[in-house]
Amino acid sequence: MPTAPLNLLGLLPADLVAHLEAQGERCSLTEARQVLSRVISEGSSDPTPRREPRKALVAALRQHTTWDRLEVLQRVPDQEGKSVRYLFRSPDGALSEAVRIGLHKPDHFTVCLSSQVGCAMQCAFCATGRLGLSRNLAPWEIVSAFLTVRDEAPGRVSGAVFMGQGEPFHSYEAVIQTARVLSDPAGGRIAKENITISTVGLVPQIRRYTRERQPYKLIVSLTSTVAARRAELLPVAGRTELSELVAAIREYSEVAQDRTTVAWVVIGGVNTGEDEVEGLRTLLGELPLRINLIDVNDARPDGFRRAGPEELRGFLDRLQVLGVPLVRRYSVGQDQSSACGMLAAVHARG
Ligand code: SF4
Repeated sequence: MPTAPLNLLGLLPADLVAHLEAQGERCSLTEARQVLSRVISEGSSDPTPRREPRKALVAALRQHTTWDRLEVLQRVPDQEGKSVRYLFRSPDGALSEAVRIGLHKPDHFTVCLSSQVGCAMQCAFCATGRLGLSRNLAPWEIVSAFLTVRDEAPGRVSGAVFMGQGEPFHSYEAVIQTARVLSDPAGGRIAKENITISTVGLVPQIRRYTRERQPYKLIVSLTSTVAARRAELLPVAGRTELSELVAAIREYSEVAQDRTTVAWVVIGGVNTGEDEVEGLRTLLGELPLRINLIDVNDARPDGFRRAGPEELRGFLDRLQVLGVPLVRRYSVGQDQSSACGMLAAVHARG
């Protein structure tokens, strides 16, 4: 029974074969690889295989698939020219963002991707959390954003991180399918270890990810070890007992045979005190961690503030005593209009 055309950008070669077979069309795995290489690896707007394409295959592609990309509404470079924030519009009008981020190596970039339109996690410091969740992005929409950013980059895009709008594990299947397409030899050709999925700490999905032995990097947001504060800052994820999250992280570290990276959004006057360092000391008794410190980026005039230099130095000094690897990551788009989710929020308000 014929089904609606599928967008090629969200498919693996086996998916394309199955889709065309379901429409009564023939397509070999080799042909499917050639088609997807054209539109994803090469970024071409023509899916026709280069060598001796069968006429029937070309006709079937035109009838049963599409390869449209999302419309680009805006490109906003940061003041230092290191990153560019993109705003996309889907065919149903939904808005989503992606960011090209410069890496330490010159001319090397990674792409920060959104997984949802809005987000249901309500993190207290996040503009996207205040939008609420509209829907999940389909794999083809996320891949489309990646391809546009990649194709416009003035150098090599070697990685992708799911740290944009949305909670990736709240849209687990679509995000894992996207990661597969991005790392496929007929797809984005990004090394699996250069794809990072970040979660606010959804325990059942962390356990599923561990069970499935997914090969991508994982970052778990912690941000506070004090239960009441964690529940306030991360209202949805904070409903789960910290002990359960710790158990899930431990399982993951054991299976991945690596320290788990935890993200800590540093908020001035909120989560930089001795109580948090003490909480981390207790956790570290049980867990091999790596801590990724991220400055809060709350664009509201009365919102959370960043830690001042002295407060930050004191926090870093106390953390260093714990002997755990620390990474300081600056959030991209420091100016108000390009804080996380702000482009979409501004446009959604019209
Ligand atoms: S920080 Fe991430 S998980 Fe939390 S509300 Fe914002 S987008 Fe959602």
